[in-house]
Amino acid sequence: MTLVLTGATLIDGTGAAPVPDAAVVIDGERIIAAGPRRGLAWPADAQVMDVAGRTLLPGLIDAHDHLASHGYGLATRFGLDEPASTAHMRTARVLSETLSMGYTTVRDAGGLDSGFKLAVEQGLIPGPRLVLAIQIISPTGGIGDRVSPSGHGCCCAVFDPLLPNSVANGVDAVRDVVRTMVRAGADVIKTATTGGASSRPGHGPKDAAFSLEEMQALVTESHALGRRVMCHALGGPGLRTALLAGVDSIEHGSYLDEEPEMMAQMAERGVFLVPTLAVYVYHRESQSPHVRARARELHQHHVATVQRALDLGVPIAAGTDAGGHGHPKNALEIVYLVEAGLTPMQALRAATQWAAKCLGLERELGTVEKGRLADLVVVDGNPLDDVKVLLEPERIQLVVKGGAVCVDRRPK
Ligand SMILES: [Zn+2]
Repeated sequence: MTLVLTGATLIDGTGAAPVPDAAVVIDGERIIAAGPRRGLAWPADAQVMDVAGRTLLPGLIDAHDHLASHGYGLATRFGLDEPASTAHMRTARVLSETLSMGYTTVRDAGGLDSGFKLAVEQGLIPGPRLVLAIQIISPTGGIGDRVSPSGHGCCCAVFDPLLPNSVANGVDAVRDVVRTMVRAGADVIKTATTGGASSRPGHGPKDAAFSLEEMQALVTESHALGRRVMCHALGGPGLRTALLAGVDSIEHGSYLDEEPEMMAQMAERGVFLVPTLAVYVYHRESQSPHVRARARELHQHHVATVQRALDLGVPIAAGTDAGGHGHPKNALEIVYLVEAGLTPMQALRAATQWAAKCLGLERELGTVEKGRLADLVVVDGNPLDDVKVLLEPERIQLVVKGGAVCVDRRPK
């Protein structure tokens, strides 16, 4: 079955100038042609959808989300305030809403088990394509070690084999945990070499976790198993350890502006920066004084980091780090990237082509080109004029995932 979308202005994700009056021809789950409508042909029995007057983009990608997290409150994080089944239903709703806003791929940075991916693939629930980290690997005291701000461990004995323990100390244990995550369905390995804004007092953005030897073991084992490594690291020695060990992306990277040589190396080696600006907007107003103070202190560094990344050519991918701060519209990150200095075209690429590359999926996703999977969004309005149009549900008029129309909000 051939599906053709005609008449829209095409922004194909490659950075090329928008193509007015375009056509995208889809056969099964893949794009077989895209470009000016006049130059294209399709079979007479094709299903043609007229989307003139709108903008057509690649399906959007969030490179850092926590779809199964629903708040920073301790009772929520420890799974105490509602039955697991209720929380799962809540997560399923987030998956559906995320897809309906044009996000056809999400990299989950920890907390979502592989059952959700199976459920989406089997059509049991609607949702984006999922790239899963399963859990955050850290040493004792790191952010993967579930303790309260006062240092107490989770009081209930939760054992879910699909969300295995992620605390490891020493090179052998680290290798074992990487293998355990892969067994549980990890597509990417998530680790953390520093604290963050919301971690407990005493483990802040520049406090290190993991030795260089442990991180080298983690990266070597992950790569041997064909998994990229995404590393939560904000600043200081832990950030340097992560880069020395050869991680594939730095998540947050708030104090990278203090490491100009490291940033030059990131540009040279193609190590991604996923700044996740959205979560720090939330943390700047946190109820916890230590979280608020950290987020306010790092803000100017974070903006300087994004600008230096642009200058040096460090690749940037859009990620919200949503979950703890609820599940606002994922495109908020695109808005914040523009505020930090990206052009609207750059910010769109950070959520399409560049994000796909960050996930290692650039041959399948991220652009509207012949051979790619047909993940597409049709927007009422032009995000190059104002990226905020991506925040309005009624403007996300059509969402196509793998050639199938998932959402159709076009006026009847
Ligand atoms: Zn995160």
